[in-house]
Amino acid sequence: MKVLISNPPWYVPTGVLRNKALRMGIKAGSRWPYTDKVNKGYFPFPFNMAYADAYLKQGGIDSTVRDSIVLFDEYAEFFEIASNFDYVVIETSAASRENDCFIIEQLAKRSKVILVGLHATAFAGELIKQREVYAVLKGEYERNLANCLTIGLGGVYDFDEWENVDDAPFPTRDETIYRYRERQRGALQVWASRGCPHQCSFCYVTCFYSKNRYRPHSPERVEGEISDALKRFPRLKSIYFDDDTFNIGNERIREISRRLKRFNLPWSAMCRADTCNLETFRIMKENGCVELKIGIESGSQRILDDIIGKSLNLENTKRIVWELKKMGFRIHGTFMYGFPTETVEEVQMTKNVMAELQCNSKQYSHLGLLSGTKAWKQFEGTHGRMPTVIESDGVLSKGM
Ligand code: SF4
Repeated sequence: MKVLISNPPWYVPTGVLRNKALRMGIKAGSRWPYTDKVNKGYFPFPFNMAYADAYLKQGGIDSTVRDSIVLFDEYAEFFEIASNFDYVVIETSAASRENDCFIIEQLAKRSKVILVGLHATAFAGELIKQREVYAVLKGEYERNLANCLTIGLGGVYDFDEWENVDDAPFPTRDETIYRYRERQRGALQVWASRGCPHQCSFCYVTCFYSKNRYRPHSPERVEGEISDALKRFPRLKSIYFDDDTFNIGNERIREISRRLKRFNLPWSAMCRADTCNLETFRIMKENGCVELKIGIESGSQRILDDIIGKSLNLENTKRIVWELKKMGFRIHGTFMYGFPTETVEEVQMTKNVMAELQCNSKQYSHLGLLSGTKAWKQFEGTHGRMPTVIESDGVLSKGM
């Protein structure tokens, strides 16, 4: 039994050669799959794919992981490779679903197709009815993939998550690692936790994890995984914690920070401003943290409270961001617009906050609607239809 865990090509329009593509998609590893200009942007490490591959290998299953997006595979090349496998696993998303359908139809001629990812999680019941689909695995899929293959039965597999995420093996990493990029090539992308205790209406974590929504790795495990990766890939130049929210709590984050000192590499992390105190941020800085990505989303407290449920006090956040800048952190702020009921004045308020904070860099994108989230359901309630692929693509959905 040979298994391919894949992130298939996603060019726009679907099916074209790369040099004819108008855009390309970024999917596995991204919280909000989207399309961008070909060869632009960053490539997130496909964590679930890499964990699943390692877990299957640990169980003696012949598994291969291939990220055809970061490798810029052509469609024909991908189908040729995939034809050698009995099972092909595909992450699905709302923004890529038309491309995913095209891929699935081709693959099903030779292999059993297993769907995973947020869109498959939200629409498992519908998707399993398609004759090309062998199985649909809800939520984080490492354990379920092993279950499905070992049992040898198709169908829908309900959430099966690690209680203790330290039980997961280190994710598979190979030479492709140098192609993934954060701000620059050569950042080791790591998860120190899974999930987040918050429940923002637009965020994938509210649907992708069923229980134990926030599960941290122990500091020992984080240090061990980084140590292992840096020994094998010594040209890595920095570390990036691509957690949903890295800095939850004080003691554990301080302990992780102190353990990172020995690697003598700059590191950065996806954070909230309010989930640890300033002393913890100071210890992070002292131990090599140079940049924080902070989700602020909107300059309107009404939007934060009543529309997206961010549980974030804007004035407090602004004060903390200024303190962090004074400490010497680079700040990457993330902001959005296009929220339901958002007024022109509120969009301007977000722009004012962006101007006021003077983040070193920022992301300002349209709300992209992700399958199954509260924002997705609100849209369906208002419009009587599901969002289109464009409305799910945070980069493209400006006209929504
Ligand atoms: S705080 Fe961030 S990771 Fe957590 S639910 Fe909100 S958007 Fe998602």
